[in-house]
Amino acid sequence: MRIGAIEAGGTKFVCGIGNESGEIEERVSFPTERPETTMANVISFFRDKRVEAIGVGTFGPINADSSSPAYGSITTTPKPGWAGYAFLDTLKKEFDVPYGWDTDVNAAALGEATWGAAKGLDSCVYYTIGTGVGAGVYAEGKLVHGLVHPEGGHVWVRRHSRDAFEGLCPYHGDCLEGMAAGPAIEKRWGVKGSELPADHPAWEIEAYYIAQAIAGAVLLLSPKKVILGGGVMHQRQLFPLVRAEVLKILNGYVQSPAITQEIDAYIVPPGLGDNAGLLGSVALGLRALGR
Ligand code: ADP
Ligand code: ZN
Repeated sequence: MRIGAIEAGGTKFVCGIGNESGEIEERVSFPTERPETTMANVISFFRDKRVEAIGVGTFGPINADSSSPAYGSITTTPKPGWAGYAFLDTLKKEFDVPYGWDTDVNAAALGEATWGAAKGLDSCVYYTIGTGVGAGVYAEGKLVHGLVHPEGGHVWVRRHSRDAFEGLCPYHGDCLEGMAAGPAIEKRWGVKGSELPADHPAWEIEAYYIAQAIAGAVLLLSPKKVILGGGVMHQRQLFPLVRAEVLKILNGYVQSPAITQEIDAYIVPPGLGDNAGLLGSVALGLRALGR
């Protein structure tokens, strides 16, 4: 089975071919430019690939309401040319196959539930902490959209007592993304996160913010696994800091051994590593085929 996959990011696009075993057979990557240029690259990659379905996991916000005429479009974004862009319609004109369409983080959550850290579970949340912060929600065996789709990067967080940083979110200032995304770390400390040592105070502050969002997600959604991906989470020392802070916030209230005894296996990195996004799009394509 040959499934086309598109991981559409704000800085780069990755296109690939995957199969039902969660293997990637081929992939290409190119920078995200204006939609006409970028989509021409996408279309030329898939031209002779004979795929049976295509899954798209994309930056957003997006229209994911299949009853809407604007289904399959990017809604609001500052990226030149992409606001209101009819992404899926452009592809449908070229390739007559079933399509899966979702946010990049919902796709990653599905990929992880299919082949990764949440394999065999019917729920998980997937956070990416990267250039932005986003959250995908898989619950009762389905990706959650609700009114629009989850926007878990923009929840409010309580400020750390030793953090005076004003926050970078253009909408909210000091929301989770504004305080904890990669660019916020860089602005707060004057160097990229990747250059800060593992014992730098930055990581305790970072974990404090991430843990608040996770505790909220645990209380609201009761996921069976919490997966943290994105560039910032390459700092592996964040995991024990985040887990400890989540335990402190929950304070014994959620009485599941998964949390009270085995939190090391509950809040985890992506099982699919940096393939979570692309394989998530493969999983979206498989679902579109009814698999
Ligand atoms: P994107 O979110 O654009 O898809 P990434 O998930 O790779 O891409 O996130 C990029 C962000 O993560 C940048 O702000 C970068 O500074 C930060 N980042 C990447 N690698 C690391 C690292 N090893 N440690 C800390 N921050 C990192
Ligand atoms: Zn925000």
